[in-house]
Amino acid sequence: MTKSITAFFLGGTISMTGRGGGAISRIGAAELVEAVPQLAELDVRLDARDFRQISSAGLSFQDIVELVDAAAAAESDGIVVVQGTDTLEETAYLIDLLWPHETPVVLTGAMRNPSLAGPDGPANLLAAVTVAASPQFRGQGALVASNDEVHAARYVRKTHSTNVATFASPNAGPVGLLVEGTAIPLATVPRRTVHTPNGPMSARVPILAVGLDDDGLLLSAAARVCDGLVVAGFGGGHVPDRLAEPLGELAQRVPVILASRANGGPVLARTYGFAGSETDLLARGLIRAGLLDPFKARVLLRVALASGYDRDAIAATFVEAGLT
Ligand code: ASP
Repeated sequence: MTKSITAFFLGGTISMTGRGGGAISRIGAAELVEAVPQLAELDVRLDARDFRQISSAGLSFQDIVELVDAAAAAESDGIVVVQGTDTLEETAYLIDLLWPHETPVVLTGAMRNPSLAGPDGPANLLAAVTVAASPQFRGQGALVASNDEVHAARYVRKTHSTNVATFASPNAGPVGLLVEGTAIPLATVPRRTVHTPNGPMSARVPILAVGLDDDGLLLSAAARVCDGLVVAGFGGGHVPDRLAEPLGELAQRVPVILASRANGGPVLARTYGFAGSETDLLARGLIRAGLLDPFKARVLLRVALASGYDRDAIAATFVEAGLT
């Protein structure tokens, strides 16, 4: 049966032209669809809509809320979101947290713009529509289709600034593949909790990436104004010992999430015992991000704060989302 797919175009490299340092989003939804004749060969009725025409660095939580509302109103069999790759790992996860429907939401973009040799946008758009129309990918929330792979929003990272194979899920691997035009599921994403914020997701939640010999300058500045904090600690969740006490004090006032600045793996719970180790910081009241990277942890904390969760509810949310 013919599937109805609604595709929202938000801008990004896939729509950008202009050489010599001047590429900006100029190409609209209709032209991008027209550039992929194979779309007409799918058993799909495609409704392509211009939604924003900006770099993904300029997107806001509010843009995504409006997108989720428009996607729900579309009542299609599948949703495609085409945007810049820079923030896609975050927007995909935000959609995942807010999307209660079985309908798949499949995000994609491009690393090479259409004026470069070998642009990847057309193949990615075709892949995203194919996945969105595949019944096997229903009920898995938001997914990312790129470079013939499908990734779960919960795990996906942008791992390279220019390579077309940029999207990867270091903690899980892809959940599907595109093979000869067919979307093949490899794994299902564990059950996810959908959140319903009561107001704007505007809480101030900076990410504090600690560095070697960090003197705490940014921590003290952030502590004065933040509604919550994500610490991107070393390795399994460690900071220089001089930061442990101020972090513990801050954690008595606002939720402080302990994530890792490493590109994969969990935050530990019970391995190290030195000052500034994960056991020290967790005992001081920090909340473990588990397998969530700092960027996704920040998205989740902003959603949780807008949902009115107290500290215990936030901690429980991170146990569920971080899978640890
Ligand atoms: N600057 C682009 C963006 O909108 C990069 C991309 O699309 O890959 O995120």
